[in-house]
Amino acid sequence: MEKVDVTVIGAGVAGLSAAAELAGEGRELVVVERHDGFGREASSRNSEVIHAGIYYPRGSLKARLCVEGRELLYRLAEEEGIPAKKIGKIIVALDERDLSVLEDLKRRGEENGVGGLRLLSRAEVLEMEPNVRAAGGLFSPETGIIDSHRLMEHFEKRALTSATFAYNCELTGLQKADKGYLVVIRDADGEEFCFLSRVVINAAGVGSQKVAELAGIDTAAAGYTVHPCKGEYFRVRGGPGERTNRLVYPPPTGISLGLHVVIDLQGGVKIGPNAFYVDEIDHTVDEGHLEEFFKGARGYLPALKRESLSPDMAGIRAKLFREGEETRDFVIRSEDDRGLPGLVTLAGIESPGLTASPAIGRYVKTLVGDFI
Ligand SMILES: Cc1cc2nc3c(=O)[nH]c(=O)nc-3n(C[C@H](O)[C@H](O)[C@H](O)COP(=O)(O)OP(=O)(O)OC[C@H]3O[C@@H](n4cnc5c(N)ncnc54)[C@H](O)[C@@H]3O)c2cc1C
Repeated sequence: MEKVDVTVIGAGVAGLSAAAELAGEGRELVVVERHDGFGREASSRNSEVIHAGIYYPRGSLKARLCVEGRELLYRLAEEEGIPAKKIGKIIVALDERDLSVLEDLKRRGEENGVGGLRLLSRAEVLEMEPNVRAAGGLFSPETGIIDSHRLMEHFEKRALTSATFAYNCELTGLQKADKGYLVVIRDADGEEFCFLSRVVINAAGVGSQKVAELAGIDTAAAGYTVHPCKGEYFRVRGGPGERTNRLVYPPPTGISLGLHVVIDLQGGVKIGPNAFYVDEIDHTVDEGHLEEFFKGARGYLPALKRESLSPDMAGIRAKLFREGEETRDFVIRSEDDRGLPGLVTLAGIESPGLTASPAIGRYVKTLVGDFI
């Protein structure tokens, strides 16, 4: 039977980054992806924001890997010609009560090592963003945007030096073997193939729970139950009074960063994402949600017109908690202690997973260390 060193399940930005880091040094890798190319799920269905690292609890993987990933991303973008721009962001206070939230966020961001954060008065917000009405703001100069497709293309190219990409192949079996795992995959024609892999990286996004179950992990006990949470976007095709110069966010909610103004590298503007839990993976946008977007964004962008909004796209977050439950950190861990040496699980890789991606790949490599 064919043997490889490393199998990565999932060609989203996290799996691709891990594959890029593990490539080379004579290692043989396989990347298994059920779609016909990389980044067809969360990794291409997001705001493409390079987060500064403000929101996350001190010492969490989200905070550490976001700050490290952000620095790596800006460097990568410059060295590899990946389109990216440090356009900055303002989190706005919708009314006076939100001002203390901004102060808390500033403190938390600084604890996480985010530089340049500055509280803004009502007048300062207006001066920087003449179309925005707010009681105050928190300016983050380190926040930016990146072309996620070009980033993933870069990781794929690096991985290709020693990886085979098994696109259109779904993982259907994962069994502990003598020295590694018996990996079973099924292609688009329904044909099954199996091979042995010393190391397996579960980077399957919303599919990570299923992959962990295939390996025999009790996912409920392990805390790997995925609660898919959808986020839709509406495009803004309006006049100059309906756009902003920077990313503009309201204060975060328990399960999302709030309906914000997203600016892409071509200058296009969107509002989103909203956040609601779903049972099925369906990326259509419900036109009936237009009013929610209009009312939400009008709170700080008063000239926005209802008729300027049209449905755009949606992504699904692989959350590990429901609304009202305590938020969860990224899970990136070796399953050695569950009797599964060489298996690494990535679960709950929601925002800021895109920003953190270069650091996630490096972190996975440290966990794999002894097994390759
Ligand atoms: C609406 C939204 C907005 C976001 N905004 C931002 C942002 O602005 N900035 C930021 O930093 N982060 C953001 N994020 C988070 C970021 O997009 C994710 O953290 C990141 O894309 C996760 O990458 P991933 O590789 O873990 O998952 P995915 O991109 O979902 O990749 C997982 C892959 O695994 C494959 N797979 C699953 N099961 C199997 C199987 N059995 N066999 C084979 N293949 C399988 C899937 O097809 C998929 O391609 C956002 C996310 C969403 C949903």
